[in-house]
Amino acid sequence: MKIKRRETRKVYYGAVQVGGGSPVSIQSMSTRKAADSGAVLNELASLAAAGCEIARVAVKDQRDAEAINKICSESPIPVVADVHFNYRLAVLAAGNGAAGLRINPGNIGGAEKVRKVAAAAAEAGIPVRVGVNSGSLEKDLAPLYRKAPARALCQSAVRAKELMEDTGFGDLVFSIKSSDPMINLESNRLFAADNDYPLHIGVTEAGPALSGAVRSAASLALLLCEGIGDTLRISLSADPVEEVVAAAALLSALGLREDIPRVVSCPTCGRCHIDVQGIAAEVERRVLSAGKGITVAVMGCEVNGPGEAAEADVGIAGTAAGAVLFRKGRKLGPVSGDLLQALLAEIDKLG
Ligand code: SF4
Repeated sequence: MKIKRRETRKVYYGAVQVGGGSPVSIQSMSTRKAADSGAVLNELASLAAAGCEIARVAVKDQRDAEAINKICSESPIPVVADVHFNYRLAVLAAGNGAAGLRINPGNIGGAEKVRKVAAAAAEAGIPVRVGVNSGSLEKDLAPLYRKAPARALCQSAVRAKELMEDTGFGDLVFSIKSSDPMINLESNRLFAADNDYPLHIGVTEAGPALSGAVRSAASLALLLCEGIGDTLRISLSADPVEEVVAAAALLSALGLREDIPRVVSCPTCGRCHIDVQGIAAEVERRVLSAGKGITVAVMGCEVNGPGEAAEADVGIAGTAAGAVLFRKGRKLGPVSGDLLQALLAEIDKLG
């Protein structure tokens, strides 16, 4: 099944296009304070190696806004400055090289300040993501939220849109996030029905790594299957690299990114001969950073392994004597010793 994407306008975060038919891009966010630019840059390098394409950094004060300059000049991926409450920090970050801004117009201090942020973004030639979140909804929308939460969130986003459109600035991306996957789903559907701005999708406060990824996928997979979503973040209480791995797996599973590698691995059982869990985790890390759109299989035994992973480009299956390598379900030959290295060498041969 080929998913038909919603037609949206396009914006650019540095060289990364969002919307306008571009591939759904993967985002994450640094967990470090921007003023600690070395720590942020280390984290951004790990995120980029895992396949993150746009990263957000929180800007809370003047020191953070000044550090954006160094972070953006040395980051391997475009950096978005995330600013709340203080429009001056957004203006400063835009002038300091941020590839984009993320604001909530409802908390930036009124129409005049929103106008100043828009003017700074226009001068820097960068987009602004307008983020609406169930945790920071306007007070007057609370009664509607109790009755129809998705409509209230959508209405908040429409208000923010009108505020931004009044400034004459059009390089906008919208996000509407709820921690409830189904409210998240419905509010994005409502907004997408009447607007062609690109959408950044994600379930906010989704939870710890595994359960958070599943809660996110419950909402995001449905949106993506309906063609909604131009860029996404899977927000987890975990190492942000896990967010990137989860987002990559979701896009790959839906056939939306054929350039993302996939690791097929068995759950193991009493027939298992090798460390499937350890090899699969390491191979996934390596192929994600290599950016090869390949499928690699790691299977515990040769009884069912190659057959179960027949579609894999290359794979390994445990045997009593070590393992066998296989390609597209066909055995290549036995290997022993460092099985991970043997598999990686075979992956390298794929070019
Ligand atoms: S591949 Fe072998 S070890 Fe893995 S689950 Fe299947 S039968 Fe068990």
